[in-house]
Amino acid sequence: MRENIRIKAVPVSRGIAIGRAQVMRDPSFQIVRRSIPAGRLKDEIDRLDTASQKTIAELESTRNKAVRAIGEPAANIFDAQIMIASDSEFHDSVIERIRRDKINAEYAYQETLADTIDRLERSKDPYLRQMIHDIRAVSERMLSLMLGIGDGDRNGFDRPTILAGRIFSPGQVMAYGKRNVVGFLTEEGGPTSHMGLIIRSLGIPAVMGDFGIGEVLTTGTEVIIDGINGEVIINPDAETMQNYRRMRQQKQRHPLNVLRRARSLKAICRDGRQIQLAANLEIPGTYEEHLVRLGVGVGLYRTEFLYFAKQAFPDEEEQYRAYSRIVERFAPLPVTLRTFDLGGDKYADHLGGIHEDNPALGWRGIRVSLDSKKFYQSQLRAMLRASTPGNLKILIPMVSDSSEIVATLDLIEKIKRELKRSRIAFDEHVRVGAMIEVPSAALCADYLAELVDFFSIGTNDLVQYTMAADRSNHWVSKYYNATHPAVLRLIQMTIQAAHENGIPVTVCGEAAGQKELAPFFIGLGVDELSMSPTLLPGMAQWISAINSVDAKRFATRVMRLTNAKKVQRALSEAYDYVKNQKKGGWLQ
Ligand code: PEP
Ligand code: MG
Repeated sequence: MRENIRIKAVPVSRGIAIGRAQVMRDPSFQIVRRSIPAGRLKDEIDRLDTASQKTIAELESTRNKAVRAIGEPAANIFDAQIMIASDSEFHDSVIERIRRDKINAEYAYQETLADTIDRLERSKDPYLRQMIHDIRAVSERMLSLMLGIGDGDRNGFDRPTILAGRIFSPGQVMAYGKRNVVGFLTEEGGPTSHMGLIIRSLGIPAVMGDFGIGEVLTTGTEVIIDGINGEVIINPDAETMQNYRRMRQQKQRHPLNVLRRARSLKAICRDGRQIQLAANLEIPGTYEEHLVRLGVGVGLYRTEFLYFAKQAFPDEEEQYRAYSRIVERFAPLPVTLRTFDLGGDKYADHLGGIHEDNPALGWRGIRVSLDSKKFYQSQLRAMLRASTPGNLKILIPMVSDSSEIVATLDLIEKIKRELKRSRIAFDEHVRVGAMIEVPSAALCADYLAELVDFFSIGTNDLVQYTMAADRSNHWVSKYYNATHPAVLRLIQMTIQAAHENGIPVTVCGEAAGQKELAPFFIGLGVDELSMSPTLLPGMAQWISAINSVDAKRFATRVMRLTNAKKVQRALSEAYDYVKNQKKGGWLQ
């Protein structure tokens, strides 16, 4: 193969990774029916038993590792699968089919599986439909083992491995992240996709692009991922390899070290104005200790993590435990719990096989919650029970209409009455906010602001919906632009409406962590920036070099610019200005 094939890519998670590619195809098994003589049926049953025992053992071991690495909620994903893999009724039906039809184990397994899935797909019970995803995960493993198709050692690849595939689910990322996987290469799922967010939480370098997976890039090929400059080098020569090894050593700082070393995360502008900083959390555990030490609260806690760790709605008690744990850990610092943002392109296949032609514009966020009232109520109840005065905030995702806020507030009031009747304590004044991430919400921010206690601008979605550019699709990534004047206008409208109604505004999308945008956000009057924990130290320092009065003038100037290029130019000039603290006025 040609050496040093360089392919441009979209950086998803910073860092440099060097390893052997492991191409993960969407599994499609070629299973043929074979007639088995009566005397050899026992061998088939033995093969089934062995695969089953091995699958259970692997799942248990992965579960224990996940608990150690990420914490108890991660274990739930595997609990459901262990239960399915241990289902003796299903196992006995396969054995019966092997004996009755005198056929090979994998064919009997596949046929029994098809019957089960068919039954579940027709079921009206969302719980049962949700199980399909887990059943498929278990059956893929069972069939791989029976067919002798390996995907590396499930307990860990024996050398640093770069996983390449179309896209990985958050659950897969978590499972593989601990198996000597040092990098991810995907064809879909950009930096703001949920996959990207989880990969970054784990601190693993990743890029997205068109790499010819399966053709140019095959299993076993040596690969370098440059998640800093956005490049992939397939089959690097010795010199390139050496250069990148050196670079990896220089640039690779474990994300946690940045926080470990930080002394303060107070973001005070040169003129004394303080900008509140907060952290976005997806995976509990890793960063909490340092955030608490540094006095930084949680600006966005994506509770859907609890859902996809389990692949089902966690019940009220599980949620209560998870929420009160984090609230207590951070008290008295604020913790903003966002209600489940399920559906859309991020979790479509987890929602019981519902097919949507256009999932990003489909059943997502608050829409799913309001249509699944029982689950929504249990989530709000768990949140209220976990609230203690002053530090828990509830945030509603994907608001596109005021009725969604009103319905949520009504539910909250109803639950409060029930809690009072049952003498269960909660924070009477728990604050409720709306995510502003759909253009209709930004355009109507003036009257939404009358209903809630705060706004949180989700730029990841606001950009995709304003620019009609899928946040996970690299073919349209050039249109996905947070600096487009249309996006900036919606942000400005939102902040203005909030402040006119006396409520604060957080920016919690990935744009909040971009230094180039900080002078603009500060100039527009944003109250809080919530970002990935590793970006906080750099941002606190950066803000201390900005004068908020200058930033205000700068924002006014940016708002007059007529295209994204001009905005980007102005932002990078401002960036240089702040960096070098040039004398004279601010970018007149
Ligand atoms: C956003 O859309 O900017 C956001 C913070 O929410 P998520 O990335 O979880 O969709
Ligand atoms: Mg969003």
